Amino acid sequence: MNQQPHRARKRFGQNFLHDQAIIGRIVTAISPTADDTLVEIGPGLGALTAPLLEAAGKMQAIEIDRDLIARLPEAMAPHGELTLHEQDALKADLNTLFPGEHKLRVVGNLPYNISTPLLFHLCDQIERIADMHFMLQKEVVERMAAGPGSKTYGRLSVMLQYHCQVVPLFVVKPGAFNPPPKVDSAIIRLKPHATAPYEIGDYKAFQQLVTQCFSQRRKTLRNAVNGIAALEDIEACGLDPTSRPETLSGEDFGKLSLLLSKK
Ligand code: SAM
Repeated sequence: MNQQPHRARKRFGQNFLHDQAIIGRIVTAISPTADDTLVEIGPGLGALTAPLLEAAGKMQAIEIDRDLIARLPEAMAPHGELTLHEQDALKADLNTLFPGEHKLRVVGNLPYNISTPLLFHLCDQIERIADMHFMLQKEVVERMAAGPGSKTYGRLSVMLQYHCQVVPLFVVKPGAFNPPPKVDSAIIRLKPHATAPYEIGDYKAFQQLVTQCFSQRRKTLRNAVNGIAALEDIEACGLDPTSRPETLSGEDFGKLSLLLSKK
């Protein structure tokens, strides 16, 4: 079929990879095999899809842009068997799309405009995920991997690290994409923990505590948890009420949330 070249859509966060060396490094990092159930979020024009199909033989992909959905089957046919789901990944229910018990290997050069909500959406379905490899803004990767006390440590760090081992792999410069984004990108590997790294009690209470604490970074812990925890709760967990929430480890948040869940 003779098609016009696709014009990248900003609203779908389209920055297409074209650097073959970078694409090769990403595929090597993923190391797909024929036994994997690979799910790519946002296959775009297939820059990653084609080599992944070559390695795995078959895979699934979720794409929102109809124009790309129309192009991909023909373009990918020589490489392997691609099953496409025309859907907003933010609304994708993994159990509905991929029924069964088997765990999924989720990959993607993610649309940067929705990367944080998408990460949280995937964490909500973490029991179906074997691992994840994503391209994200370097700054987001730094936030995901940050530890207590660092400037970039926040809700994303605590929540992601509660669910997964977070491993930043390598930085990718804007020139690897078309059109080039304004900022550096980076590849990250997320491997869900086999068992929770620490107790948190009620998950919703943990989420609320972490969200509230980091929405008020400049406050002391005592003031930041106002309305959800009392001074004696903080002290009962061995935490300093005058400390700043950003100095607390995930486990510290877990202790407080566990205590609040039991009340
Ligand atoms: N994987 C391709 C590559 O590396 O060249 C494209 C990556 S591009 C940064 C992001 C892709 O995600 C685009 O194909 C875009 O249409 C798709 N996308 C954007 N928002 C989406 C959403 N909510 N659900 C599914 N796909 C989405």
